[in-house]
Amino acid sequence: METRIDRYGASNDLAGLPARSFVLTNSQRGTAVCSLRWFYGHGLGLVRDATPPMRMGTAWGGVMQDVWSWWAVPDRGPYPDPDFTSGVCRWCGGLNPGLGCFACGSTGLDPIARARRGFLEYQARLEHPEKTAEEVEHDAETLRRAARGYLIRYGTTGPDTMRVLAVEVPIVRQVLRPDGGEYRPEVPVVADGDGWRFALPTDRASDTTRVRWPWFVAGKLDVLAVDRGTGRGLHVEHKYGSQVSRYVHMLTHDTQTPTYQWLIEGAVQRARTSPIDAPGWAREIARTTQPGEEMAGYYLDFTSSGFHYDARQLASKPTKANPDPAPVLSTAASPTVPSWLYEEAVERLGLWSDGRVDGEKRAEYRDHIAKLRRDVDRKLYYREWTAVGRSDVRRLEIELYHSARDLAAARRRIVEFDDLDPAELALRYPRTMVCNLPGGGCAFRGPCTQDGPDVRARYAVRPTQSWTTDTDTQPDEVVDDLGF
Ligand code: SF4
Repeated sequence: METRIDRYGASNDLAGLPARSFVLTNSQRGTAVCSLRWFYGHGLGLVRDATPPMRMGTAWGGVMQDVWSWWAVPDRGPYPDPDFTSGVCRWCGGLNPGLGCFACGSTGLDPIARARRGFLEYQARLEHPEKTAEEVEHDAETLRRAARGYLIRYGTTGPDTMRVLAVEVPIVRQVLRPDGGEYRPEVPVVADGDGWRFALPTDRASDTTRVRWPWFVAGKLDVLAVDRGTGRGLHVEHKYGSQVSRYVHMLTHDTQTPTYQWLIEGAVQRARTSPIDAPGWAREIARTTQPGEEMAGYYLDFTSSGFHYDARQLASKPTKANPDPAPVLSTAASPTVPSWLYEEAVERLGLWSDGRVDGEKRAEYRDHIAKLRRDVDRKLYYREWTAVGRSDVRRLEIELYHSARDLAAARRRIVEFDDLDPAELALRYPRTMVCNLPGGGCAFRGPCTQDGPDVRARYAVRPTQSWTTDTDTQPDEVVDDLGF
């Protein structure tokens, strides 16, 4: 028997996840702030097409995965083609598309070219494309400039202070009661095909079976590394957005990062007791650390999603006294021109050449470049280190127990009811208007305002967690049939 979870695949791929288990993700925890939002998104599994910023964020994740995977290979040397101009996969050289390159999905393309192709294919599938071909090219160029800038700002060989162990790492850890005991609440499941799945409103209560299985938290880390100085583990979390201020609070006030730390610590502790079943990165951190000192902290690694502009050239009119005036670059404050694009414009226009501009103008350009480094580069690319204290991790561990308890209760309420009846819905999944708070958007405003089959038909349906079995068609540890 194995469990299947959307985004994470089968339990066989997740070290430490038993076949009979329930999985809780950070996304579920966030969604559950409004119980109706959780019901639509995870109870029913409704999903909307990703928004344009979400698609850009996913594409940026692909760029980071490619770059950091390169850095994870010992002695691999600098990341090649740091300008991202060739469009060719660094790993297979684009020579054998279709022959199974893990990095490019056998396309032979680099991450920017893959993103561009994905954007174009997405628009082609739409009845009414939301972007013109020029706008898609602009999006791809936005990504290319950001990726190039990332390697200029941080270098092409990766941070000296850390050794990268793994990229895009799925991890799970069991949720326990606050006293350390096992937590196995009752949850209804329904026979389906060759296995079982979570119950839905259309399932009759008499067709469900109540089981008590353990709950696990699952997370996917962007980058796992060890600090070269101390041997302690650390993780890097990439963020791609319009404003760094949206993410800075993560450094002090956030549950995602302590959750990741808790997950990593659990995997390392398991590696100490059962190294044969543990992934290599967990064994490595176990080897270089003492119990209780597994983790050093994490990096918030933010990149601006705004277009990084070239320096603006001003008009320079020839006069009788000066028939061939030097081009002039604007030195007005601009939050979207990084220092290297400005320096490149100065070079391209030959403004450093002898006698092209006077000493005063040279000094003005030098000052402006220094100002861009100080005020702009650091906002377009912001990397900050922080450590998560033991008390924060312990606090989080108890909160995860509360989340598992709440979600188990939400699962128990899902069986056999008319979920298009507003009163029935309100009885089980009342609204909490977090959507009205600043930044609290919700993908389910449509059905929340006016529910019905037509509105729901605008969403795709993601399968719920399910469990397959080859030999045993009954889930273990059945409590009894649901009686409500
Ligand atoms: S629109 Fe608001 S109230 Fe309705 S489900 Fe979403 S968050 Fe909840």
